[in-house]
Parts: sequence; C-alpha cells; structure tokens
Amino acid sequence: MAKRAPKVDHEKCIGCAVCYSVCPASPNVYEIKDGKSWVVHPEACTECESCVQSCPVQAITLVDISEAGPKPS
Ligand code: SF4
Ligand code: SF4
Repeated sequence: MAKRAPKVDHEKCIGCAVCYSVCPASPNVYEIKDGKSWVVHPEACTECESCVQSCPVQAITLVDISEAGPKPS
C-alpha cells in the first residue's frame, strides 16, 4: 500500500498520456480523460517515480496519499 501517490498539476498537464504509459501499477494509477491525467487508483502506486521522471512538463509530484489527485468528478 502506497504512503505516497501522484499529484498532477492540471495547469501544466498537456494530456500526453506518458504517465499512463510508463506506470507499472495494476490497476494503472492514471486515467486520461478530457485532455488531462487523473489519479484514479492512488492506492496502487508503488512510488517508482517513473511518471515523475517521464512527464515532459514536470506536472507530477509524489505527495502523501491523502493529498493525491485529482480524481475525475
Ligand atoms: S505525462 Fe505529464 S503532461 Fe503527460 S498526461 Fe501525464 S501529467 Fe499530463
Ligand atoms: S510513481 Fe510509479 S507506480 Fe506511482 S503513479 Fe508514478 S509510474 Fe505509477
């Protein structure tokens, strides 16, 4: 169970889906919807930091799981 999980800055995110593609978690932590990345399964995060390192616009940080998101409404 993750202690940390991603927080995506939607002012930076361009919806490229690289985070979704590199995430090794099952189920995938991310979902791409409406041109943005959403954190749908934060509990599945293994804290590997692949998404943090791969995001082309540095939109992702790992934070305490209670602060992870956003989730789609
Ligand atoms: S890799 Fe970064 S810019 Fe691309 S969808 Fe994920 S958060 Fe958004
Ligand atoms: S840190 Fe790793 S497991 Fe967690 S969301 Fe990013 S790519 Fe997926």
